[in-house]
Amino acid sequence: MAEIIIRKLRKEFGDFTAVESSSFTVADGEFFMLLGPSGCGKTTTLRMIAGLELPTSGEILIDGEEVSRRPASRRDIAFVFQMFALYPHMNVRKNISYPLISQGMNRTDVNQKVLEVAKILGIEEILDRPVSGLSGGDRQRVALGRAIVRQPKCFLMDEPLGALDAEFREHMSGELRELHDRMGATTVYVTHDQREAMQMGDRIVVMNQGVIEQFGTPQEIYEYPATMFVADFIGFPPMNFLLFSAKLEAGITRLNLEGQEIGIRPLGQAAEGSLALGVRPENVSFNDQSAYKGQVETTEYLGTTQIVTLLTSNGPLKARLPAKDKVREGEIVGLSFREEAVALFDCDTGRSLSMPSLETT
Ligand code: ATP
Repeated sequence: MAEIIIRKLRKEFGDFTAVESSSFTVADGEFFMLLGPSGCGKTTTLRMIAGLELPTSGEILIDGEEVSRRPASRRDIAFVFQMFALYPHMNVRKNISYPLISQGMNRTDVNQKVLEVAKILGIEEILDRPVSGLSGGDRQRVALGRAIVRQPKCFLMDEPLGALDAEFREHMSGELRELHDRMGATTVYVTHDQREAMQMGDRIVVMNQGVIEQFGTPQEIYEYPATMFVADFIGFPPMNFLLFSAKLEAGITRLNLEGQEIGIRPLGQAAEGSLALGVRPENVSFNDQSAYKGQVETTEYLGTTQIVTLLTSNGPLKARLPAKDKVREGEIVGLSFREEAVALFDCDTGRSLSMPSLETT
């Protein structure tokens, strides 16, 4: 298996820059997610790693070798797409064995490899069935089987579960992660689904408009978003932003908002102008003693919790509270925030002021 190093990778299509200057390293055996909204450049990045798209500039190293100008067939990678293209006239066994037969492997070894893979994927029973009658999940397993049977240096997956319904998708994402843990294969996985990225990934790159916004573990990205874009893109509901204007000294850990002292993560630098206090809904609580007030607009019952939408003098705010708490629409309540989780952002640059910006280039 292999480490993948991406250095200052850029892709232009005519006047349009799809990927600006991406740099990141995928560790050997890592399950690595490229996450972002539609059009942010994640598929283009993956296609450049695969060798299906030539970079405008930059370097791609797989297992220590510079491959950015090398054709896809000579990179020893396997690509799994959303639309798992199987050969409809062949049965499952033939579909999985096809890459090995194309390599000229002898029949005994092919049969053994196909059996091993079928066992890993739990599809021994359907090896002799035609692929045309299979369910979506089984078809996806066969496509995975065809990808893993060659034991390539790494796997590149582009929304491989995108065509499945929500329930089955959840199931398959668990299966895929388990499969990865058993095989330990370096995997780069593209998705626009933050839940999928958080559940499955060891580390995540969050992209926006061709630029890497942040790079880190799911927990780092959730708890310490480097930008307002990441804070808004990750989390459901996303992070709240309470907007205000102020001049603040570097290093402060408390600020006064509407007469209430609010603890914040240490401010890394002095700040002035339009700022946003970022707080996740689960870090908001009701507190009679607090001078910081909000008026309840709506409540949304979710079983064990409820999402309460309030209006404050700094904008709307969502709180996630236990479902059993009695909340009345229209009531005015005092609010407090879990101090160690409250971040501050510069609204002009969109960057967090509460932590050092992460090195991505
Ligand atoms: P999606 O999930 O919608 O595919 P994405 O993040 O994977 O989104 P890309 O497919 O990488 O995005 O596309 C990034 C941008 O580059 C988009 O604006 C897209 O229209 C553009 N683009 C991609 N391929 C080409 C191409 N061959 N020619 C011109 N523009 C392209």
